[in-house]
Amino acid sequence: MSALLLDGKAVAQTVKAEVAADVASLGYSPGLATVLVGDDPASHAYVRGKRSDAEEVGIVSMHHELSASVSQRELEALINDLNMDDSVDGILLQLPLPGDLGAERIVSRIDPAKDVDGLHPYNLGLLVLDKPGLRPCTPSGIMRILADHGVSVFGKTAVVIGRSFLVGRPLALMLASKGVDATVTMAHSRTAVLAEVARGADILVAAAGVPGLVTAEFVKPGAAVIDVGISRTDRGLVGDVTFDSVREVAGSITPVPGGVGPMTRAMLLANTLEAARARRA
Ligand code: NAD
Repeated sequence: MSALLLDGKAVAQTVKAEVAADVASLGYSPGLATVLVGDDPASHAYVRGKRSDAEEVGIVSMHHELSASVSQRELEALINDLNMDDSVDGILLQLPLPGDLGAERIVSRIDPAKDVDGLHPYNLGLLVLDKPGLRPCTPSGIMRILADHGVSVFGKTAVVIGRSFLVGRPLALMLASKGVDATVTMAHSRTAVLAEVARGADILVAAAGVPGLVTAEFVKPGAAVIDVGISRTDRGLVGDVTFDSVREVAGSITPVPGGVGPMTRAMLLANTLEAARARRA
């Protein structure tokens, strides 16, 4: 039997329509500042997409492009300016940064109230404390895909492969949070017998960045499988899940592309709206 397709593109459209309607009723236009350093083509493409999404829903996009030779001090000065600028509700620093620029230090400079990527230690701290705050976009997008497709999480067993601060760690916390109530295992590159751990999951999330890592033998029949991975190969963009065989075992599955990726972009808009409302309340 073939799994239900968890259509991130469709859910992202729903989120965008919700944000557009809410923005239209605000009486002002929220502002999203994007900061792009260097000339990595993938980063440029991501930021172009984020800016056009913002404009589509009525968020004003303010773009700052800096050369890869920018100093840490100059970049921090730009972040300080954006923190002070009242027309800016959200600051998106495109990662990874080139060269020796310390991403952690610069993200920590962003005003937590404008941290629409949800990666500032303050916002990650709120997540650990299970308190409301701006959440990282990819994990929030995954939670929304599950919710919109009626995939029940309550009391279920979830395995998240990957422990990065961007995806795996925050997602594990969100799945285990009160009211969501999954029982969560966070697996990683040192996990012994990964396939066996994964096979225990009702909800299996692959966020390792290893093409084809999750094969059918990793998957409990009927499980929901979320593929976060995006790797550029000579076959194009591929995920961490061997889609064709896994879809025969899983109950539901996200495609790559068209699964988690569009949701990450949509949740940035939702976070910008949330930040604007909170700042201007
Ligand atoms: P990362 O490199 O920071 O972390 C990868 C994690 O996977 C690590 O914790 C590592 O321990 C684990 N891992 C690596 N190899 C493994 C293996 N063989 N078995 C088990 N665990 C293993 O990466 P990241 O930033 O978390 O991103 C992960 C993937 O998700 C990448 O492909 C990235 O491009 C993709 N991504 C997609 C989106 C999206 O919107 N779809 C957003 C963010 C990241």
